[in-house]
Amino acid sequence: MTAEAGLPEYQLVGIPGDGVGPDVVTAAKRVLAAVGARFGFGIAWQEIEVGGAGIDAYGMPIRPEDLAACAASDAVLLGAVGGPKWDDPAAAVRPEQALFAMRGGLGLFANLRPVSVHPALVAASPLRPELLDGVDMLIVRELTGGLYFGDRGEPAGAIGARAAHDLLPYSEPEVARVVRLAFELARGRRKRLTSVDKANVLATSRLWRTVVHEIAAEYPDVALDDRLVDACAMQIVRSPASFDVLVTENLFGDILSDEASVLAGSLGMLPSASVGARRTAHGLHGLYEPIHGSAPDIAGHDVANPIGTVLSAAMLLRWSLGQSDAAEAVERAVSVALDAGFRTIDLWPRDPAAAEACTRVGTVGMADAIVARIGTEATQLAGIRP
Ligand code: NAD
Repeated sequence: MTAEAGLPEYQLVGIPGDGVGPDVVTAAKRVLAAVGARFGFGIAWQEIEVGGAGIDAYGMPIRPEDLAACAASDAVLLGAVGGPKWDDPAAAVRPEQALFAMRGGLGLFANLRPVSVHPALVAASPLRPELLDGVDMLIVRELTGGLYFGDRGEPAGAIGARAAHDLLPYSEPEVARVVRLAFELARGRRKRLTSVDKANVLATSRLWRTVVHEIAAEYPDVALDDRLVDACAMQIVRSPASFDVLVTENLFGDILSDEASVLAGSLGMLPSASVGARRTAHGLHGLYEPIHGSAPDIAGHDVANPIGTVLSAAMLLRWSLGQSDAAEAVERAVSVALDAGFRTIDLWPRDPAAAEACTRVGTVGMADAIVARIGTEATQLAGIRP
């Protein structure tokens, strides 16, 4: 509780990270402060240096005490890590090691990526508008198993005969926990779950499919279908509105969720949450971040779109703090700001007539536009979910 006001105070860790990370995290923190003031809660931030910033400050991408701070918090909000300065893939310390350490160390086995298309941004998507009508999918990606965590052999041998390998291991408990979460999420939505695998080729996919069908018996109200990953990749661009919840293993989820992000018109729009099984006093413990990277090409110029991070903060409010009304207020404020024509450069309409009705803003300006709409009458009346 905040001493003076007697209001709840949540303990959050903020990780600005690298590139545009600090820009977008600053914007999201402003939005959280505004929504907290309106809904009667405070946030105590602990800011830590992670990724390239951690390597520069401490010689390592994340320190054990920083991981402990994340574990002790109610939730973590991350910008992005990485950039050309630390890009050498052969380096012993690399920024993305911090992400793997947090996923593994905090037991964050599921990555949730909602993908929807705001009506005002349909023109920004490369897909035809009629294909985007009704797109509202949630991709659930297994995050701590499979190819990215399996045994590997680096390239070795004589030139012309070099070889390397990566193993793709999955155990039944690893599959079951993420699949069960996906069924639960589908139950709270349109009750349709698509499980994506490559069961015609891979043994781990046959295990995946078997476990999925065994668990499906616990969820008779959820309609399940299986898709091979190659067919699913086509369906995401051919009929994206046909999906509700998708669940898949780590590598397939990495690729499909990036493919699906194109639907929304800009990488800068989309949020994500990584969660596990651990609960705090307020909700699921989790790490929230936009899906984009550190965008070094635009870092520090006040042009990055902060909406992906702001919507990640809304997911944090809903999942980790149990503040679903506040989460909805943030989502509505984003929606109303877009309806009012505010656009960062990545959302700027190609059509000059459409551009006439828009106002170009930077990261700070978009945050201003969202903050100004938190809890306003327009927000209350709009009732539009982004
Ligand atoms: P990126 O997502 O950083 O950028 C891709 C393109 O999208 C760039 O043109 C960029 O300017 C644009 N873009 C990204 N975010 C934007 C935003 N908020 N607003 C407007 N435009 C935006 O991907 P990349 O260029 O492949 O990677 C850059 C660095 O980020 C690399 O070092 C990579 O390893 C790292 N990365 C980190 C994460 C993470 O922290 N989770 C994820 C992906 C990439």
